[in-house]
Amino acid sequence: SEKLANRVTSIRVSPSVAAAQKVRDLKAQGREILNLTVGEPDFDTPEEIKAAGVKAIADGNTKYTAVNGTEALRKGVQHDFSTRLGIECGLDQICVGGGAKQILFIAMMATVEEGIEVIVPAPYWVSYPDMVVANGGTPVIVSCGEDVGFKLTPDALEAAITPRTRWVILNSPSNPTGAAYTGDELRALAEVIRRHPNVLVMCDEIYDRIWYADFKTESILGVAPDLRDQALVVNGVSKSYAMTGWRIGYAVGPKFLIDAINKLQSQMSSCPSSISQAAAAAALTGPQTSVAATVEVYKERRDRAYALINDIPGLSCTLPDGAFYLYPSCAGVIGKTTPDGARIESDLDFVLYLLEHAGVASVHGGAYGLEPYFRISTATSMDVIEAACAKIAEAVAKLS
Ligand code: PLP
Repeated sequence: SEKLANRVTSIRVSPSVAAAQKVRDLKAQGREILNLTVGEPDFDTPEEIKAAGVKAIADGNTKYTAVNGTEALRKGVQHDFSTRLGIECGLDQICVGGGAKQILFIAMMATVEEGIEVIVPAPYWVSYPDMVVANGGTPVIVSCGEDVGFKLTPDALEAAITPRTRWVILNSPSNPTGAAYTGDELRALAEVIRRHPNVLVMCDEIYDRIWYADFKTESILGVAPDLRDQALVVNGVSKSYAMTGWRIGYAVGPKFLIDAINKLQSQMSSCPSSISQAAAAAALTGPQTSVAATVEVYKERRDRAYALINDIPGLSCTLPDGAFYLYPSCAGVIGKTTPDGARIESDLDFVLYLLEHAGVASVHGGAYGLEPYFRISTATSMDVIEAACAKIAEAVAKLS
C-alpha cells in the first residue's frame, strides 16, 4: 500500500520466520514434517529462573523500571561480562532491551541514516541487512567463504571500509555457521578497527555460551579493551537460558551510544518487562549448571549431525564452534535431477526438494547471503535429527 513508509516496503519478512510458517502450514495439512528450522532452544526455562519471575509478580515488581533497566539486572550483566570475558564497565555503560534484536535495531536507529554504510560479513544472520535498510542505510555485504572458515579476515575488512562506514558487524559464534572467532583473530580485526576511529564494531555474542570449541570464548572488548569507545557488545538470555519468550537482551558500549539507545528506548517502550528483568537477573547471577547441562546435550547432537551429514555423498559440513546450527554445503547436488525430472539449480531448489520429498524442513543458504548451502538446527531432539538425516540421505540418493 502507498500508505506505508519506505522503511517497511524496502525490507523482507525474516526468511526463517517464513520457513517456520511454511512448516506450520504443511503440518496443518496433515503432513509429517521433521523440522530443522528451529531458532530457539527446545529446553524449558530452568525452574529457579521461572521462580524469580513468579516472585517478582508476587512482590509487586510489576511497574515501569528505569529506562536502562533495573540495577539488579545491570549488575548481573556487569558481573557476567567481567567474570566470563574480562570486560570491565560502569553500570551507566550498560543498556537493557526487549531482546538482543531490539538492542541491535535501536543501536542502528541511533547511528544509521541515508549515506551510511554497514559492513555485514556473509553468511549473516538474516536480520542484519534489513535492520540497516529499515534505518535508511546501505548494507555492504562481504562474502566470507568456507575457505576462510566463514569468518571476516582483517584484509577483507580493511578493503570494505570507506569514509561512509559506520559499523562492522561481528557475530560469534555465528548464526548460521556456528563459526567463532579466536582471540588472535579478534586481535587482528581490532588492529584494523583501531586504525579507523570513525568505525564502530557491533559484536553480537548471543550464542557465546553455547560453545564447543577447544579454544576459549573471547570478546573483542576483552582482548582489545582500548576499543571501548568503538565497540558495542550485545548479548542476552534468550539462547543460553532458554528464555526466548521473556525478551531480555543487553549491551555494553561507549556512554554516548548507550545514552542514545536509552533515549530512543524512552520514547519506544520505556523499559522491558519488569518481571522478565527480575528473571534475567536471576539467570545471570544464579548457578550456571543448567547452561552446562544443555551445552552437553547440544554438543552430542552437533557431533551426530556433523557425522551423519558428512556421510551423505554430495553434502559436506564444517564442524561448528558454537551455537546450535550446521551449515552444510550442497554444492555436490547442484545440477542433479530429481525423480520428477526437475533440475536442482540452487540451494533453494534443494531445500524445497527436501521439504517435498523427504518431509525435512531447513533454510536455504541464499537467505543468509552465501550459496549453495543450507542451515539445519540442532535445537531439536536427537530422534528428529537422526530421522531427518536418514530422510535427507534417501532423498539425495534418488538424485541423478
Ligand atoms: N542475534 C542472533 C545472531 C540471533 O540468531 C538471534 C535470534 O535468533 C538474536 C540475535 C536475537 O535474540 P533475542 O531473542 O535476544 O532478540
